[in-house]
Amino acid sequence: MKKPKIVILGAGYGGLMTATRLQKQIGANDAEIILVNKNDYHYETTWLHEASAGTLHHDRVRYDISKVIDNGKVEFVKGTAVEIKTDEKKVLLEKGELEYDYLVVALGGESETFGIKGLKEYAFSISNINSARQIREHIEYQFATYNTEEVKDDTRLSIVVGGAGFTGIEFLGELGNRIPELCKEYDVPFEKVKIVCVEAAPMVLPGFDPELVEYAVAHLEKKGVQFRIGTAIKEGTPDGIIVAKGEDDVEEIKAGTVIWAAGIRGNAIIEKSGFEAMRGRIKVDENLRAPGHDNIFVIGDSSLVINEEINRPYPPTAQIAMQQGELVAKNIAALIQNKDLGTFTFDNKGTVCSLGEDDAIGVVFGKKVVGKKASFMKKMVDNRALLMIGGASLVAKKGKFNVL
Ligand code: FAD
Ligand code: NAD
Repeated sequence: MKKPKIVILGAGYGGLMTATRLQKQIGANDAEIILVNKNDYHYETTWLHEASAGTLHHDRVRYDISKVIDNGKVEFVKGTAVEIKTDEKKVLLEKGELEYDYLVVALGGESETFGIKGLKEYAFSISNINSARQIREHIEYQFATYNTEEVKDDTRLSIVVGGAGFTGIEFLGELGNRIPELCKEYDVPFEKVKIVCVEAAPMVLPGFDPELVEYAVAHLEKKGVQFRIGTAIKEGTPDGIIVAKGEDDVEEIKAGTVIWAAGIRGNAIIEKSGFEAMRGRIKVDENLRAPGHDNIFVIGDSSLVINEEINRPYPPTAQIAMQQGELVAKNIAALIQNKDLGTFTFDNKGTVCSLGEDDAIGVVFGKKVVGKKASFMKKMVDNRALLMIGGASLVAKKGKFNVL
């Protein structure tokens, strides 16, 4: 009898968790497992703000996929998926195509610009290794160029961060450490540098604990960050951004660097392939399958799971993606072995938001933490993800041990 073919799209947190768990649960004779990813490396999306600011080299943020999968059981295909043909049980790749019996869509998310003019053209987003490397280089170039010009252009040294969600705040935390280094390296006076964070909601980290938010804002303001709260970015331009506070109060902020960190949506392939989606994310059933498709599981940033307590979607995180990956591996094994499927319940262990190298805020198992203790916990969370996917050897190679 023909072996069932399992295709996993994406080797991020969700996809790698599925692959590394499946390889333990299914024998090589029971199924063919194929893992597809754009690059032959996995990157820690949750560390990209560090690579973008230049506080951690991008090579520290990534590792070879072949090192964490059982190459005897999982075939790795380096390729870019472009569309899923559900009626033909096929995935089209940029080069070639793959048939599947079971499909796991774990392609992550994409920056959401809400159709705001000029952002795609003029703003950067913290999305992957390439964009992180580009942001780091761009900021450094602005500093390196500043003193070479006869008429100095201070806007080169202005950085705008759009959105004070967790991505924006974590990036600002890293900038707080990086800017003094750049000033020293390029002989730039610190007072010439301007870092502005623009947030549309009435508070930083909307919905998070107000006391912790106050701590974060005070910490970042001390490092030179100016917050523009209740102010929305309306347009990106070659010279910076246009913002508005209310209907009439429109203003231009000139900046040599604009980072758009104001939200994500599901991977474009979801809508292109005809799935019903909300901002590119599929509302999955209790077994994590796409409605109407018994053989297609969707996890991570391209999926949407409702938190029944508040009737709102859970924020897309690595934490939930990994838990989904674990269940999907079990559910695919169950389908092959004719067993019952498990249902998904998110076990929220908390949230820690880094504020740079040695500071952070968080709520862990319901308790508030700040400062060095929170920063230590953040590094442990980062190490835990490595441990769960690649074991102790990966932690030894890539782990964060610079705890104070
Ligand atoms: P990803 O981990 O993003 O992986 C998607 C994979 O698919 C990538 O390898 C990508 O290359 C590949 N891919 C994409 N398109 C294609 C294609 N067409 N063909 C083939 N391969 C493709 N969450 C937390 O829980 N804790 C945190 O501390 C945290 N910090 C964060 C910090 C930053 C700066 C950012 C941006 C996010 C952070 N998040 C955090 C959110 C978290 O990173 C995401 O929710 C998580 O990465 C989603 O996992 P995923 O498996 O869906 O996608
Ligand atoms: P987000 O959607 O959580 O935050 C985006 C922020 O941008 C919001 O505060 C929103 O009000 C603001 N915004 C939207 N439009 C705007 C506009 N036009 N002008 C100004 N501000 C605007 O997005 P994110 O921060 O990228 O986070 C994405 C996901 O990743 C979330 O689920 C988050 O929880 C997760 N994440 C977690 C961590 C962590 O746990 N440490 C770190 C980073 C990201």
